[in-house]
This record gives sequence, structure tokens and C-alpha cells, in this order.
Amino acid sequence: MPDPVKSSIPPVNLPTVSPASTGGEAQDILTSSLDALPREECGVFAVTGIERAAELAFLGLYALQHRGQESAGICAVNGDGTARLRKGIGLVADVFSSEDLNELHGDTAVGHVRYSTTGGSRSQNAQPIVVRYSRGDLSIAHNGNLTNGQELRNRLVEEGALFQTTSDSEVIVHLIARSRHDTVEAQIDDALTHLEGAFSLVISVGRTLFAAVDSRGFRPLVLGRRGDGYVVASETCALDIIDAEFIRDIRPGEVLKLEGNTMEELRSLPPAPRAAPCVFELVYFARPDSRIWGASVDRARRAFGRQLAREHPVDADCVFAVPDSANSSALGYAEESGISYELGLLRNHYVGRTFIKPSQADRDFGARIKYNPVREVVEGRRVIVVDDSLVRGTTSTSLVKFLRQAGAKEVHFRIASPPVRFPCFYGIDMPSREELVGSSHSVPEIAEMLGVDSMGYLSLEGMLEAVEEHGPFCDACFSGDYSAPLVDVERGLASIDNPPGC
Ligand code: AMP
Repeated sequence: MPDPVKSSIPPVNLPTVSPASTGGEAQDILTSSLDALPREECGVFAVTGIERAAELAFLGLYALQHRGQESAGICAVNGDGTARLRKGIGLVADVFSSEDLNELHGDTAVGHVRYSTTGGSRSQNAQPIVVRYSRGDLSIAHNGNLTNGQELRNRLVEEGALFQTTSDSEVIVHLIARSRHDTVEAQIDDALTHLEGAFSLVISVGRTLFAAVDSRGFRPLVLGRRGDGYVVASETCALDIIDAEFIRDIRPGEVLKLEGNTMEELRSLPPAPRAAPCVFELVYFARPDSRIWGASVDRARRAFGRQLAREHPVDADCVFAVPDSANSSALGYAEESGISYELGLLRNHYVGRTFIKPSQADRDFGARIKYNPVREVVEGRRVIVVDDSLVRGTTSTSLVKFLRQAGAKEVHFRIASPPVRFPCFYGIDMPSREELVGSSHSVPEIAEMLGVDSMGYLSLEGMLEAVEEHGPFCDACFSGDYSAPLVDVERGLASIDNPPGC
């Protein structure tokens, strides 16, 4: 079991995970092999005005686990406004026991799941961050990445601020605490106006909850209701799991104050020239049973798949997905092409927790432990494989090899998004630009590298058209068109090649 922190404030300095809890050397091999893949960003969840709030937060985070598997945390606030925190390295189910949840009293809670490769020790950067603030205990959970985080941090350090983490989110805490304004609302508002880039935030001050989204709305944040209380979550799947009713998306630039059963719309942040929700949420990150920005993620992916079939048709015997993220788009491809949809690849869902002997590690290791072809579907057949996106191309190269070994006669690879060619500065953890295969190689070169009979990417225009009614979107990872200024990069404070996730 991870060794998390149960604490009063200040909460930082988490103990590191003991070797026994990580599986030791074998786990390191597994982790480094899986590190070939970029990782997910973060998920946030908060409730107020509902008894046993921490239990609901636990369930909400459980539903958001796909958004981050490195650490999880819940801060609960009891009747007198005292915050109590538990966070640790690992999956939600591993970090919290039922005893922990029983100790996290109160009707207000803020939760977070995280994966990011941003510097510093992993446990140190686990969220929520909780501090004693002049106006009560404050907790914050953040999804997104500030593009001026380093500049703000440098300024605050010069002014004497002491940082305990390397995470952007701590910058926000300092800005709130140091604001000269005289109410909590004004201090939060003041802090937010200094931020550039992506933030979908939940903040508790005592038992009052604040939810805020940057003025371009890069990351999703939804508002729900359960009984007499309110719920805020990264995706609607986290509302469903606790039977909360979806009210609406929190809009770009909005700051909401939620207290018991009252909600106040505070002043909005200055509007951006245009909203820029992240289209990659629809391509890959969000769960297909969620609705974000008015779009069903499943329907968006199906539309991508249908458009892909129109753009890159091919005569074949069956179509299947690289599970699970491409299931909906492969269904769309099958619907449009009339080619039968099959389950040609199986995915092992328990991979991250498997004990693997180091000697088993080889070049295809990461893909081999995760996927296996169904020989009966593949053997002697012309197959179309649909994946949601191609990042480094390493998984796909291995998968094509496995399909050939299982007897596939022809392998036609289809990608339900355009080539990922640019790093994301707004919270999606991607490898550096030269590691993005779509940036360094042409489509024919990629086809050759994968060893496929044909290959086709969804066009940028086709993708945007398929979800036009929900846009406009940020498509910077495909187009290089960055809508929010990259302040730290422009000032030489951050690398253009290695932006942080989350
Ligand atoms: P690869 O091309 O081998 O790097 O892997 C691509 C696969 O990783 C795709 O099938 C996606 O499902 C998944 N993927 C795409 N973007 C990300 C990301 N930022 N983090 C984690 N996985 C991702």
C-alpha cells in the first residue's frame, strides 16, 4: 500500500512510496517500458452541501481515474471549516481505505487525480494542495497547465514566497494569499487575472467552494446537483456515478461560488478573443460516456470514425479498434463503410498492477503486456485497425507485428485524428516534438515504419467539421496554432520541446 498522508495543514512533504509498495525493480522496468507512452493529465472533483462528501469524492475520482493514475487526493472540510487531507501515490482504490474516508468528515470535499511528468518528486506534487490561509483552510485542485507559471513563480520567489512543490497550482495559492483585496472572492478573482494558459480549478475556503475556468475554456469542468448540494467535476461520468444531475458546463472565464445549496455567479474573467476547448479531450482523453461542452464524447468519436471512412476507404473483411480509446471511432468507421465490426484486439486492463519479471522486457514489451490479437478474427483476413491517435508510433508498430504474427493477410491502419505534430502547453502531457512521429515523418514514412499495407489519418478539416457545432476548438497539437500566449517559452523560462502536463 502506498504510504499516504493524513494530515492537518501544512500538508506537503508526503512520504515517498516504499519499494515494497511499488513492486520494486520489476515495477520499475514495467513503468519505464510504459513510459514510452505519454500520460494522461488530471481530473478534479468537488462537492459541497452534501453529508459524507469525501465518500462522494472517492467515487467521483474513481470515475475520473482515466485522467490520471499517478496520485490521488481528497481534502474534506468539516462543520467548523477545518480541512483534513489525505493524498498519496497510486490509484484511487489504493490510496483510500474505508477507514480513511470515515475520518474525512464534512459536507464539503475537493478531490484530484494526477499524472504529470513535471519536475520534482511525484509525491510532492500530489493534489489537492491545502494551506492555512488568513480566511480559513484553503484547498485547491487544478487541471490544466499555466503558460506563465514559471514567470509568476520567479516573481513570487523574489518577493520572498517559499514554495514546497514544483506544481503550477501552488503559484495560484500564493497569488490568492498575497492579494491585497479584502474579500476571499476578490482575492481569488485577483489571482486568476494573473494566470495565462489553462486552468479548470476547484478551490475550497472553509466550506465555501469556488469553481473557475480560464477564459478560453481549454479543459472541461461541469456543474451538477445532488439533493441540496452541488457537485463540480472534470467530466459528467463523475456525476453519473453518484447519481448527481448534470446542470451545465462551466463556461470559459466563469467563476462560481457554491455554498450549501446556493450558487452565485461571480464576475467573469476578461473574455479571450475566442474560446478554445481542447479537441484532444474528444479524441482521446475524456470517457466516451461523458458529455463535455455539449458534446457526447461517444458521438464525437463516432463522427470522427465515419469521416475517416469517407476520407480513407479500403476493401477489407473486418474493422476493429485498438481498445478502448478507439472503440467508438472504429464503430463509426464500421457504420459508414458497412464493413463488419469485430473484436480483433483484446486489452488487459490490469497491466499497471502486474508483476513482470525484468527478463521479459523487450522492444514490444509495453504493447505485448497490454494487447493481444484474437487469432480467429485476424487469421487469413484483410483487417482495418482504427486507433484514436498516433503519438510516438511505438505501440502501433508492435501491434502491426502482432497482427501479422496472428496471420493477418493485410493490415490497413486508420487514425481517427490528424498527425500529432506539436507539443501541448495547455495540460496534455505529450513527448517532445522530435519524438512525435507525425512531426518527424511523412505519412508514407510512417506507413513504412509500421509495416502496414495502407495508412490514413483523419484530416484536420474533417475532424473539426465533425464536431463543428461544439467548437471552435484548440487544435494546437495538430496545427501548431497556439491560442493562449506561451509566456514562459517566449521569455526563455521554459522549453518549447518539453512542456509540462497537467
Ligand atoms: P504511441 O503512438 O505508441 O505513442 O501511442 C499512441 C496511443 O497512446 C494512442 O492509441 C492513444 O490511445 C494513446 N495516447 C494518445 N495521446 C496520449 C497521451 N497524451 N497520454 C497517454 N496516451 C495517449
